[in-house]
Amino acid sequence: ALQVCLPLNALGFVYREARDAWVNAERLFDLLREKPDIKDSPRLPRLHADKGEVVFDRVSFHYDPARPVLSDVSFRIPPGKTVAVVGRSGSGKSTLARLLLRFYDPVNGRILIDGDDISEVSPGSVREAIGVVPQDTALFNDTIGYNIGYGRIGCSRADIIAAAQAAHIHDLIDSLPEKYDTEVGERGVKISGGEKQRIAIARAILKAPPILIFDEATSALDSDSEHAIQQELERLSLNRTTLIIAHRLSTIVGAHYILVMDKGRIVERGSHRELLERNGMYARLWLLQQRMDETGAMQRETS
Ligand code: ADP
Ligand code: MG
Repeated sequence: ALQVCLPLNALGFVYREARDAWVNAERLFDLLREKPDIKDSPRLPRLHADKGEVVFDRVSFHYDPARPVLSDVSFRIPPGKTVAVVGRSGSGKSTLARLLLRFYDPVNGRILIDGDDISEVSPGSVREAIGVVPQDTALFNDTIGYNIGYGRIGCSRADIIAAAQAAHIHDLIDSLPEKYDTEVGERGVKISGGEKQRIAIARAILKAPPILIFDEATSALDSDSEHAIQQELERLSLNRTTLIIAHRLSTIVGAHYILVMDKGRIVERGSHRELLERNGMYARLWLLQQRMDETGAMQRETS
């Protein structure tokens, strides 16, 4: 099953790389459980992501014209920096990620990566430049090794193991009867939500793209695992342009800046400290979360 990673010869490699890049771009939809509007089109010019600067320039979007989802959203992520997005459920956060991956094109405005308007380059090349740790990771009905190695074409078993170790999933895999050749998915072993997220993280570590999206990437983990994984995510995002969609505000205190979304608009922006001083929606979310954390801690102590 690791055949995809082991080219037989140089010509085979070129052929397989071209084919797999195509297959991978299409399969990404399944992974993210998306049915995108924009299918890959290899005839378009390729994106040349290098430094990984991301710009949203007055972006508006709707799935259904009767219900605007994003209105006039502008922000810039400088190359290698991290921008965090917070806001209530339904405020449009994941839609930002879907647009950056070119699953949809904006209704108005532009999204630029290193100065290129992504609506003018092949969606496959955009998706190759971006690693995603989604809210809800789907796995292929294939081996664990395949599911991790899918992050990068031509990787070795040693690369896969190193990524799994960094994502704190290697020990678990190693304890399975067939280790990395264990089948997962419908016919194979059952994998918990937290384990799936670690596999997605291993995949992103292996892919080592210039741009990363974490969409509530640690939401399925308990707080101890969350802390361990958090450190790996921080290491992964160091010097990579990163868009973090966060449900736990404690994970984004170190972001370059924070965007607060409400009903498809950016209503506040700034550093953690600036936003606390502003005493607006972010400060309220922060207080609310601290109170919930305290209640949670009390419940754990008394149980
Ligand atoms: P968030 O990630 O902040 O919870 P989303 O970006 O997922 O918000 O969703 C923003 C809004 O768009 C919500 O009202 C949601 O119901 C709607 N929405 C999301 N995906 C779709 C879709 N594929 N088709 C129609 N509406 C959608
Ligand atoms: Mg979301």
